[in-house]
Amino acid sequence: MNRPAKNCPLRVLIVGAGIGGLTAAINLVVRNIPVRVIERSASSEGIGAGLQLQPNATRVLHAMGLAERLAAVSMEPSENLLTAAYSGRVLARLPQARTRIGLPHYQLHRADLQHILLESAHEHGVQILPGQRAVGHTQDSAGVTLQTQDGGEYRAEVLIGADGARSAVRTWLFGAGEPADQPVLVGLAYRGLVDAEKVEGKIIPGAVIGPRRHFVSYPLRGGSLINFVAQEEIGGLSAEENKKEKNELQASAAELAALRARFAGWSPQVEAILRAADTCLRWPLYRHRPLPAWSVGRVGLLGDACHPSLPNLASGAGMAIEDGYIIAASLEKYAANPTHGLREFYRLRSNRCARIQTGAAWMATLFHLHPPLQRYLVHGMLAVASRIAPGLVAHGFTWTHHYDATKIV
Ligand SMILES: Cc1cc2nc3c(=O)[nH]c(=O)nc-3n(C[C@H](O)[C@H](O)[C@H](O)COP(=O)(O)OP(=O)(O)OC[C@H]3O[C@@H](n4cnc5c(N)ncnc54)[C@H](O)[C@@H]3O)c2cc1C
Repeated sequence: MNRPAKNCPLRVLIVGAGIGGLTAAINLVVRNIPVRVIERSASSEGIGAGLQLQPNATRVLHAMGLAERLAAVSMEPSENLLTAAYSGRVLARLPQARTRIGLPHYQLHRADLQHILLESAHEHGVQILPGQRAVGHTQDSAGVTLQTQDGGEYRAEVLIGADGARSAVRTWLFGAGEPADQPVLVGLAYRGLVDAEKVEGKIIPGAVIGPRRHFVSYPLRGGSLINFVAQEEIGGLSAEENKKEKNELQASAAELAALRARFAGWSPQVEAILRAADTCLRWPLYRHRPLPAWSVGRVGLLGDACHPSLPNLASGAGMAIEDGYIIAASLEKYAANPTHGLREFYRLRSNRCARIQTGAAWMATLFHLHPPLQRYLVHGMLAVASRIAPGLVAHGFTWTHHYDATKIV
């Protein structure tokens, strides 16, 4: 276990023991910067469904010494396919990342990743306070005081809001009326897990795309479970309806039946998975504009709290992991002037994260093309390109998958 350096000028408070908050905490403690993590849930073991980690994210986790634990709970697809709904035409193949980049692209259960991070945080002596909701803060020239719902007060030189897409810390910094708090509801994602034994046929990892919706599926936990995300566009909601969609909800049996009907005839795999699904969660999907700043004084943000993106590049958790590594390195480098360290973190990260946000929104447009002629042309071009230059589509992701967060500061 690392011991905090004597006379360390910096102590850090983190709100949120999610993927980004825990990655930052581990990397700060490794640099001898004492950390306390405040988490509203009683257990930070994590729930949820599947998650894909691109090579840029696994690179950071490997650098943190977690390669073996990660490999033990992950599936590494030999390739991912993009296919067209109804026709089953293969539009693109993403060959195995390890052979292209030398690092794995993993598909795993979110709870397994959360467990690995939590275990590592405990081994490094990170102090995690579960069941504490952060409700307010004050800052002065020497530090920040954080208040929790049950009347607790915590003091540190820096506060990091790693509290997710509906970040309270972001609202404290930038206000509820600012553009960051006016996201646009653009879709719904139905996310679930099914027992693989209940699904006929071999599962091919990848996405099936069609008018106004797409379906992603891949096996998890040694192939015993299948993860699916059915994503659909939504439009024209009133402000009132928009507000109602704020939280993820258990989809009702009637909703699940309606979902099956909307995906009827798409592909045998999609139909088999939805037939086997007893339940799933419905998540609202918001498009957020990039923020012009991620910190005010000694309080900064990371992960979904400052750059939430649509899930179509499967990169939100990866960005939070990169952030966790880089914010720790930046605060170590500027320990005597953490305000500058937080500004430097924004300077190093904002363009990349904005590109992920716009890239993910663009992917949704590409996936969901509905005018038949446009769709026919684009799908035709993709299919031909994937046949004559199979590496072309994978090459399009080079900018994001090759990024090395461990060398940025
Ligand atoms: C359908 C879907 C599919 C996705 N698939 C992928 C994928 O395949 N790959 C990928 O990389 N990303 C994916 N993502 C995105 C990914 O889930 C997020 O980007 C990632 O979880 C962000 O991590 P975070 O640490 O910033 O926030 P979170 O994981 O949301 O963690 C925030 C933490 O803060 C805590 N918290 C919140 N408020 C408070 C408070 N006031 N006080 C104390 N604690 C608080 C929460 O309880 C939580 O533990 C997907 C998202 C969706 C919706």
